[in-house]
Amino acid sequence: MSTGKLQAARGTQDVLPAQAPERLALERVARRVLEGAGYERIETPTFEATDLFSRGVGTSTDIVQKEMFTFRDRGDRSLTLRPEGTAPVMRAYLEHGMHKLPQPVKLWYWESFFRDERMQAGRYKQFWQVGAEAIGASGPSVDAELITLLHAILSEVGVGDLKVRLGSLGTAQTRAAYRERLVAYLRTHEERLSAEVRERIDLNPLRAFDADDAGTREVMAGAPLLLDELDAGDAEHFAAVRARLDAADVPYVIDPTLVRGLDYYTRTVFEVESGALAAAQAAVGGGGRYDGLAEQLGGPATPGIGWAAGIERILIAAEPSLHPVAICDLYVAGEGLTAFALAAQARKAGLAVQQELAGRSAKGALKQAARLRATCVALVDETAGTIELRDTESGEQTVATDAAQVIARALKGRHPG
Ligand code: AMP
Repeated sequence: MSTGKLQAARGTQDVLPAQAPERLALERVARRVLEGAGYERIETPTFEATDLFSRGVGTSTDIVQKEMFTFRDRGDRSLTLRPEGTAPVMRAYLEHGMHKLPQPVKLWYWESFFRDERMQAGRYKQFWQVGAEAIGASGPSVDAELITLLHAILSEVGVGDLKVRLGSLGTAQTRAAYRERLVAYLRTHEERLSAEVRERIDLNPLRAFDADDAGTREVMAGAPLLLDELDAGDAEHFAAVRARLDAADVPYVIDPTLVRGLDYYTRTVFEVESGALAAAQAAVGGGGRYDGLAEQLGGPATPGIGWAAGIERILIAAEPSLHPVAICDLYVAGEGLTAFALAAQARKAGLAVQQELAGRSAKGALKQAARLRATCVALVDETAGTIELRDTESGEQTVATDAAQVIARALKGRHPG
């Protein structure tokens, strides 16, 4: 048995108190933006039957082939720690008969996910995502609304140098026909392609668009594009999504080579990158429409669209501008009975209160209150029975004779949250 110092498992990390204010600020922005638009919070279990992801995400994807944490329970059932949120949310929609609710059903989540990937900055084996899904409506406004909301959240928290890449994959049939055409095109130019691309022509021809070598790039400049082969209905949907993003002033670039690593996407796909992140991990979030997913999971045909964004990456990209929120409305400087009763009463009134617990002098207590970014400080004089209240933002000082006065003033200065 090893007796060394224990550490968190490789690729996982603790969220320490020092990071809590930024995470809380981000969660509050996400909640306000999404709930303001009618998205309701959903929480699904940390593990699911493995079948959900094999069927929902697709057996040919990297996630299912290489990245899932799969284990057997005592009843020999195969279970998997969720690697993504869309399949579980769709499973919950179908399982709980949410098709009976007014459509679309709009949901959001803030949860951790698990993928056995090689750890790098911004890439972990357990990571957190905020995500939103709208299930049960197929019109272009839903696509544009979701992209607009993701853009709004990232802009508001200060993720710098945002770039929205937008594409459309059409239907599964369009994609299959296009794939054949692309493979044929690559075969006719095989001698100019890199060895790596040549070997993967049949396996993953779309990857050729990402190649760096000059020969392949020249060939790809003349390659057929999926966007040019969309059928009339899909092309019209794509144009309508773009028109709505234009109307909402959401900047985007059309990327005809955008391929997302999951099998379930149809029509609109998008990815948001930030120039504030290293190129290899530049994706902050992404998503798309998945009109075939419900049927893949054994349900009736149901359209849906959603996105997920990585919390760790948002926080890395937003770092300097994401202001921590005040989480202390009132600091009670004093440890006597009056001070203790004031703290208890103020907490009952709904204030976030911290009390002096380490015997600091009035000066030391004021310093501690400043460190906590307390909005107000109450200096309690137990003998005189008075309480001096300082507003740390305006510097205003007032004297109160009872707890009720202090609480009324602190409630007025309180930060919304
Ligand atoms: P995906 O569903 O793979 O497009 O992931 C959506 C977002 O989640 C990405 O844009 C990243 O911000 C984040 N993400 C995905 N995988 C990881 C990971 N292994 N570690 C940290 N963040 C991740």
